Amino acid sequence: MQLLPIFADQLSHGLVSLAGGSKSQSTIVMMEVAAEADAVWHHRKKLVFLFSAMRHFAAELEENGWRVRYVKLDDPQNLGSFDAEIARAVQELKPERIVLTEPGEWRVEQMALGWANAFGVPVDILPDTRFLCSRTEFADWAHGRKELRMDFFYREMRRKSGLLMEGDKPVGGQWNFDHDNRKPASQDLFMPKIPQFAPDEITTEVMAMVEARFPGRFGDIDPFTFPVTAQSAREAAADFIEKRLSGFGDYQDAMLSGEDYLYHSVLSPAINAGLLDPLMLCRAAEAAYTAGKAPLNAVEGFIRQIIGWREYVRGVYWLKMPKYAQMNVLGAKRPLPGLYWDGETRMNCVASVVRQTQRTAYAHHIQRLMVTGNFALLAGIDPHALHEWYLAVYADAFEWVEMPNTMGMSQFADGGILGSKPYAASGAYINKMSDYCSNCAYDPKQRTGKRACPFNALYWDFLERNRTTLAANRRLAMPYATWRKMSETDRTAILEQARLVFHRLEAGEV
Ligand code: FAD
Ligand code: SF4
Repeated sequence: MQLLPIFADQLSHGLVSLAGGSKSQSTIVMMEVAAEADAVWHHRKKLVFLFSAMRHFAAELEENGWRVRYVKLDDPQNLGSFDAEIARAVQELKPERIVLTEPGEWRVEQMALGWANAFGVPVDILPDTRFLCSRTEFADWAHGRKELRMDFFYREMRRKSGLLMEGDKPVGGQWNFDHDNRKPASQDLFMPKIPQFAPDEITTEVMAMVEARFPGRFGDIDPFTFPVTAQSAREAAADFIEKRLSGFGDYQDAMLSGEDYLYHSVLSPAINAGLLDPLMLCRAAEAAYTAGKAPLNAVEGFIRQIIGWREYVRGVYWLKMPKYAQMNVLGAKRPLPGLYWDGETRMNCVASVVRQTQRTAYAHHIQRLMVTGNFALLAGIDPHALHEWYLAVYADAFEWVEMPNTMGMSQFADGGILGSKPYAASGAYINKMSDYCSNCAYDPKQRTGKRACPFNALYWDFLERNRTTLAANRRLAMPYATWRKMSETDRTAILEQARLVFHRLEAGEV
């Protein structure tokens, strides 16, 4: 008999460990455990999503004839950790082997690697075939390269998948149409809504359990409208492709008050949990382009996020762990300010994104990168504390994808392994790409004075205080030249303003 553990991000019927297992000779074990629910302060909507999706998946497996040993969080017998639950299952079922698909998280894989010795049962860990690029293939691609750049990796993935290819050439003659994807949005745009899935009996039970068990925790449970099964996730994907994909490219970087989702797919929770096959999704997007239903800049942009960025960050994570988690090249040490949890700040952009996150467990990429991430970078917040925040608050957050995005792309804590420059920007960027500034206590055009946007002084302070590490970066040559050209008086006033902002940040008054 084989024991087949399946984790919360492995809810795929085509999972490699299931494909190789025999129904009569296997017991699947699925575990809701406190050690994982409490590992960071997970958003309550995220917990509902994952536990509900797991319970639905377990029910589907049973309908398909699998034997499932399912441990609920509120089960009085629950032992509280993967290790303890596997130990109990081994003791009771006496399996000949434990077979699992590569866990998404380094820590969990280390745990699983320890089971062979701990329980005297062989453990087989199979490569996760739900990714286009295996860990070994990524390591081979990275080997001997001076720099790992997503653009070049992405081209390999286009060739490998054949997506948007004409022979060995990219459709449209370009690999990347990002320069077409920078339009700000306005309130008079027609904004299609994302589909809402009403909670069924299983989800309602999980909602009550999470409410009872985590009363003081961050994040609204209600309303809960996420798809929690493969079927509903496919409906959500079809809705995106039909109604929003065509606007995805143009407004990918835009932010608009009151519009949480714009033209984004909001499919990342379902993709990362395993409910949606990312490659099938890309093929559906490609088909929309071929049928003339979506423009190339939108479809290429969408496909690049999935077979480019998503695969690339996973590759970097497995290549560089466990050291990656400890990196802090800019030496940022400031504790995470309380405003990340309560949204209590006069900076309208940050308050809007934190409150949206609290309501929905979602923020789109530019909100994460250029608002909350950018502010943390400029303010020198400890990247590890910030990583724990991102891991907690988003429904799509699993360490393999969240950590490289936070520590690498957003905070440059990896010194440029993932991205070639830090995503640091002043208030002008946020003012251009959003309408947040029009309702803010601060003025994005002022650098000093009471109403000066905090992002402005912090931006120059960031460059100045990290001069030794960053001044040689070619992509920062322009801002450093601008800084040098400013008068001594202006520079002193800006740095003085930055001191003031830090002072107010520490006092919780920014
Ligand atoms: P869309 O904009 O519709 O994009 C389509 C899909 O592309 C997404 O569903 C996702 O699967 C993929 N994708 C897009 N950008 C990225 C990226 N940079 N890395 C990996 N996949 C990408 N994404 C996560 O899935 N989990 C995280 O925990 C996470 N944490 C992040 C933290 C920070 C600081 C930043 C800057 C980005 C993070 N991202 C994370 C990437 C990105 O913000 C989300 O994937 C995206 O916002 C999800 O929303 P969506 O499904 O509407 O995406
Ligand atoms: Fe954010 Fe500055 Fe704009 Fe206010 S003025 S919303 S703080 S960028």
